[in-house]
Amino acid sequence: MIELSTVVRVVEGLHTRPAAQMAKLAKGFKSSIHLVRQGNPADAKSSVKLMLLGVKEGEEVLLRADGSDEQDALARLVQYLQDPRAGLEEGALIAPAPHAAAQDCGADDADEAIADNCFCGVAGSRGTALAPAYVYLPQPLVASRQVIDAAEVPAELDRFRRTLADFVQPAGGGVPDGAASEQDRAILQALIDLAQDEEYVGAIIRGIEGRGDAAAVTLRVGQVLADSFNAMADDYMRARAEDIRGVTRHLAARLLGQSLPDLRGIHGPCVLVAADLSAWEFAQVPIRHVRGLVCTGGSATSHVAIMARTHGVPAVLGVPLGEAQLKAADTLVVDGTRGRVIVNPDTAQQRHAERRMAAEREARAALDRYRDLHPRTRDGREIEVVANLGGLDEIPLAQAAGAMGVGLFRTELLFMQRRSLPTEDEQAEVYQRLAEAFHPRPVIIRTLDIGGDKPVAGIDFPKEENPFLGWRGVRMCLDRPEVFKPQLRALLRAATVGNVRVMIPMISDLDEVRRVRALVDECSAELTAAGVAHARFELGIMVETPAAVLQADALAAEVSFFSIGTNDLTQYVMATDRANAQIASLYRTEHPAVMRAIALTCEAARAAGIWVGLCGEAAANLDLIPRFVEMGVTELSMSPASILAAKKRVTEL
Ligand code: PEP
Ligand code: MG
Repeated sequence: MIELSTVVRVVEGLHTRPAAQMAKLAKGFKSSIHLVRQGNPADAKSSVKLMLLGVKEGEEVLLRADGSDEQDALARLVQYLQDPRAGLEEGALIAPAPHAAAQDCGADDADEAIADNCFCGVAGSRGTALAPAYVYLPQPLVASRQVIDAAEVPAELDRFRRTLADFVQPAGGGVPDGAASEQDRAILQALIDLAQDEEYVGAIIRGIEGRGDAAAVTLRVGQVLADSFNAMADDYMRARAEDIRGVTRHLAARLLGQSLPDLRGIHGPCVLVAADLSAWEFAQVPIRHVRGLVCTGGSATSHVAIMARTHGVPAVLGVPLGEAQLKAADTLVVDGTRGRVIVNPDTAQQRHAERRMAAEREARAALDRYRDLHPRTRDGREIEVVANLGGLDEIPLAQAAGAMGVGLFRTELLFMQRRSLPTEDEQAEVYQRLAEAFHPRPVIIRTLDIGGDKPVAGIDFPKEENPFLGWRGVRMCLDRPEVFKPQLRALLRAATVGNVRVMIPMISDLDEVRRVRALVDECSAELTAAGVAHARFELGIMVETPAAVLQADALAAEVSFFSIGTNDLTQYVMATDRANAQIASLYRTEHPAVMRAIALTCEAARAAGIWVGLCGEAAANLDLIPRFVEMGVTELSMSPASILAAKKRVTEL
């Protein structure tokens, strides 16, 4: 076991997104990993637990890892915690650029040498590309006059406002071709917001009121604002300068009655080359034609880099190429993994790039072909491989990873992200959006599973000696109907979509199930009386306490399905706190006692004719999957990143 202390530099600390990203990173290591704040440890593989620690920026924390890759794990996580930009963009997760600096760009293949036509930049998005260059170098915009007559001011203000309204229109309705993903839309919306920001628009309006020509003022304000972002120490903030320049360029061109080179006109495979490309411009490009992207400006946190990662377009940014070199580029090799660009490659360099592209295609295809597959074992048993999600923003990731539905939607985050309890309407909207996103595939939503170890605004938890054995999950919910019933009503409303299932955590007594069912009936009657559309859902339970295992036969008669929560089941069967690194060697799902508990649960389910899923971390364990399937588990729920490999494993059984 090793420990390292570090100061957290993540901006605003480990709030939702950084915590989720850190947990995903931690899950990539075999070792058990804990983050300790002020003596309180949390499992670093659980975003919820990390968030609940409440780690703030500038605080010192301890990282503890135990296992075969403990050193790598700590090195990576310390690096993450020390990165102020961590968590700022989801894109950082999509394909973390291995080399962030130009000097890391070296030849690492024996048959390849760095040549004169090879330039190093920042690795923005992984992969290799070889294609003709499409050079995008719009002429600098120049306003023909600076000052207007006082009498012209009202008309000029009007002209600016109309142009702005027109400019912000397209993203409201039709999103450009390139902007296919949710994330693209979010980025474009951010740019639209920026174009309407008081800081920006207000300054332009004041400039026009001071007798400035609208185009001249727009160019000036955009430049000043971009410069002030550029001067900031933080990489992420510097990258926003590019957004401002992009918005300004388009707005000013419209005001000048000029058109910029039309990126929509790209009609064949190309490497897009630009000095300065904004996300706005990138979104205009028919992305299917873009094989690679090279920018002389920009960084790994640029919005274009994030969009390139989302679309799997290899990208290198910040490449030190002059305008003349850009214009002379006919063909380019982009090595987005190592941050390298080869301008006008010779035959040997082209062949080398083609070999790399073929190897990348093969590696992708090897897992990719499982994306839409409903995996079956060789003897024909179909296994559902579904996603564990903590929020709606993870939906695109899960869908891209081939999730066949959702096996566990943790509703805790919905409650923890806020200063007050979410309302029934707010919850209904979230659950409905989740259900619609996966329809007709099932989504299993877990009712609130939170305990006194970590408070939630709006619920008073007592101080407890042993919070894991205390007032948590369904125990708290049943005692607090004013918290629980709005959630149940929201679930009943979302169930009209047709694919919602609900499961109850921490069941240890038959009576708890019956009381939940009675509350569901009560909520349903209330909705009927109020004339609110709703539908019944299948009700299941999480099997995560020894008590549930030992009464699995009786419980199976009461519910539609079981989902085995091996994270908690392991801790309760082994009497081993899942967050206590000192006793981590006992915390093993593959321990015969835990495996026996899983087998007993499956036997009881089979006898009662209900299905069993498994949604703890162990569901993604490629060594354990064969044993779970053998026992009768028919659904495996895991983080999206593990889905393709798990599907492949099932087909090998
Ligand atoms: C579990 O206990 O296995 C589980 C999936 O739930 P959580 O990790 O949220 O407690
Ligand atoms: Mg649990």
